[in-house]
Amino acid sequence: MPAAMKKKLTKHIHTFILKPGHKPTDSMRTKQFKCRDPHCWFYAAADMILGKAAMCSLCGQEFVLTRYALNLRIPHCENCTKGVVMKQEKAKLRSIEDKLADFLGAE
Ligand SMILES: [Zn+2]
Ligand SMILES: [Zn+2]
Repeated sequence: MPAAMKKKLTKHIHTFILKPGHKPTDSMRTKQFKCRDPHCWFYAAADMILGKAAMCSLCGQEFVLTRYALNLRIPHCENCTKGVVMKQEKAKLRSIEDKLADFLGAE
């Protein structure tokens, strides 16, 4: 499979996730993050990757790892921090509205 081989060798921006056995509340020097890419073996302590570029797990956009992001199990960008919550709330509201509309549809 030449396509797969090519993909394996492609350079990428790491998408970080907290290593199993580590807690988000651990200190920046002890907790380690690893790249989610199945072909990538990169991992580093949080303070080593602070300020480095990473790929957001949620939107796939490049962003810079902040202290805030590194306190999460799955670091993601600021847009997603705000956006995801809003989207979830909106989706929740919409589904409630839909259900209500169906329920009251007979009126
Ligand atoms: Zn990687
Ligand atoms: Zn994002």
